[in-house]
Amino acid sequence: MRYFVYSTACALFFVGLTGCARHTHENLHATLWMQTAGEYHAACHQAFQQAKLQLDAALSNTEWTASLEQKAAGGYQSKRPAIICDVDESLLDNSPYQAQLVRDDAFYTSASWREWVDEEAAEPLPGALAFIRYAKSRGVETIYVTNRKADEEPATRRNLKAVGFPVGDDPDAVLTKGSDNGTEWQSNKTDRRKSVAQNYRILLLVGDDMNDFLDGTKVGDPQVRQQIAAQHADMWGRKWIVLPNPTYGSWEAATIDKDYTQSDFAKLKQKYQKLRGYRNN
Ligand SMILES: [Mg+2]
Repeated sequence: MRYFVYSTACALFFVGLTGCARHTHENLHATLWMQTAGEYHAACHQAFQQAKLQLDAALSNTEWTASLEQKAAGGYQSKRPAIICDVDESLLDNSPYQAQLVRDDAFYTSASWREWVDEEAAEPLPGALAFIRYAKSRGVETIYVTNRKADEEPATRRNLKAVGFPVGDDPDAVLTKGSDNGTEWQSNKTDRRKSVAQNYRILLLVGDDMNDFLDGTKVGDPQVRQQIAAQHADMWGRKWIVLPNPTYGSWEAATIDKDYTQSDFAKLKQKYQKLRGYRNN
């Protein structure tokens, strides 16, 4: 309850200051960071620069695979090289969608998201295009594995192509969630990695969510997710390239025990309770 008193006090303070009510939104700072911070751009360039270096290392070592599923299955050494990249907040910048939600005091809905997807207006993240084009120049295929829905694939392909990403005509060059090219894919990307592993040696995984890298990360306990990250400490920056995304993702779902059916107030309360201060209050 303390946070409610605090936020009310802040609102009253701001009313006193400006004469108008302050509209707050949980995603204001996170979205502002992505849209204005040079540091965010630097982090993106850093990720793709590292990806480029690691791509070179991966190409020269046929024992190398970034997929735990492929490592377990074996028999990949002579397959064609590919990288698996997530799309949203890994290659394409959807911060205008997040910003619009903040400006509108609105929350994510599949309808408003679909409206944004149909705009086909997402721009590449800093450094993303140069990296994917470099991969192509080295003969490495990019497979786009996204949890956009299957019926959003045509707009997604057009958006990617319009900004310059090489997208193969193969139906499996873009693997979406749901019924895609005869297969029903779950939001868990493990099965799609296994499918790609049948035809390619997977050099790198690129994503903004731990679900883009390994199984079992969509859990309702943030500490478990942090432990999983630590268990695979040798993969990050080497075979797995992670982009920062403070606006949404499995990390946020974990803070509310993956329960989006609860009230907004209840979700916010859970988030406050996850904060660790330094005083006992
Ligand atoms: Mg993503």
